[in-house]
Amino acid sequence: MILKPLLLLGQPSNAYNSHRPGSAAKYSLFLVVLLYLSSFSSSCTSSGARGGPARESSRAPDIRVCLAENLQEGSLAFRGDYRLEMEEAIYQLDESVGTFMFEVQAGIMRLRSERRYFELEAPQTLVFKPKLKSSQFLFNDIPYGGDLFLYLTDQGVTVVNEVGIERYLLGVIPQEMPSNEAEYTEAVVAQTIASRSYAMYRLNIAPQSKLYHIRADESDQIYRGLSKSGLISDQAVPATRGIILTLQDQPGLSEYHSTCGGVLESPSDTASLPGLAKDGVSYDLSRGQDNCILSPSYRWVEVRRIETILHNVQSLRQIDSVVVADWIENGYTLEVVIMERRPSGRVDAVAVNLNGESHVFSGSSVRRALANRAGEPLPSEFFFINASSKNPQKMYIIGAGAGHGRGMCQWGAIGMALKGFNHKQILSFYYPNFKLSKAY
Ligand SMILES: [Zn+2]
Repeated sequence: MILKPLLLLGQPSNAYNSHRPGSAAKYSLFLVVLLYLSSFSSSCTSSGARGGPARESSRAPDIRVCLAENLQEGSLAFRGDYRLEMEEAIYQLDESVGTFMFEVQAGIMRLRSERRYFELEAPQTLVFKPKLKSSQFLFNDIPYGGDLFLYLTDQGVTVVNEVGIERYLLGVIPQEMPSNEAEYTEAVVAQTIASRSYAMYRLNIAPQSKLYHIRADESDQIYRGLSKSGLISDQAVPATRGIILTLQDQPGLSEYHSTCGGVLESPSDTASLPGLAKDGVSYDLSRGQDNCILSPSYRWVEVRRIETILHNVQSLRQIDSVVVADWIENGYTLEVVIMERRPSGRVDAVAVNLNGESHVFSGSSVRRALANRAGEPLPSEFFFINASSKNPQKMYIIGAGAGHGRGMCQWGAIGMALKGFNHKQILSFYYPNFKLSKAY
């Protein structure tokens, strides 16, 4: 292992702030947020000291966010002073090194910039701590605040950002919901509280891993650090500081998804929809509420060539490519049959009957079995299949919604905000059994 003092290049730490939108709109939104804040603090239950919007009560916890797992290569740069802690040494880093490119091969990580070179052998943990809160690190060109952990193993590098949960939320909300439209304000506030609850659930109840609590992608919540701000979310996060949704006094698993297509997934939520029976919702897409009708995924049609389905089955079932090439040349039969639907109408299992053999896909693999040629899964499990009457090589998949359908429908929240519902009404509609509480 070659260890050399690591010197890092500093950049102006306020470059990002200069991209904020204009101040006039910001002022009016600030008033909006203050107004709802006053209604909020008078009604939510609090287990700790209750502070005003500018005064901190008890400390918000830090959350460990996985930015990438078992990575083979990437880039790393720093704006401001950092301290690097490793097993045997601590390095004071200053601002003169530049961007590191790193790569991992057979458990060896090479970190290389114009000025410095490190070669490290797995297992190894590198901890980068900023001297000032304003310091940032850039991982693959995206800026983040807080501490950075690199866990090197034989499989690659796992990159973890440890950051205060309120600061984390500032990097989540603008990724999860349009956060610059004044008329979306109540939906953004609802999203903020749902995202905070979800994060607290991962932090306290069900962490994703021993190394981190939560992932920075769609499998949990999209988080891009300081890369994008939201006019409304920048106000909504501090204004709802510590407010979460709870179930039995614990942070609740407040799941959400893009578009329900008019029918939510869980029976309890479905029962709360006006005009929908708990059972027998079946798969009548013409029924159901239309809160999310503005979503581009409210209804969709996708066309698939059967050869695409063949390739999906090949990769999911690991069928030899020589066999498949032979089928394509000499002919094959392929038919897709919907086997089961859940009470909401979403497909629970499909069978792909290929040359007389039935391949059944259920759960999350339903969407992957019907992925497009680029490998993108079907938007939702809420669909029908129509064979093409003119071209037997094609099928039409007619569907509704995007995502799993559980918890809050994000486009539905926007629809409710546009209809004049406030964030409490939105949250109680989508999370009927949850309570609002102050966690810190
Ligand atoms: Zn919806």
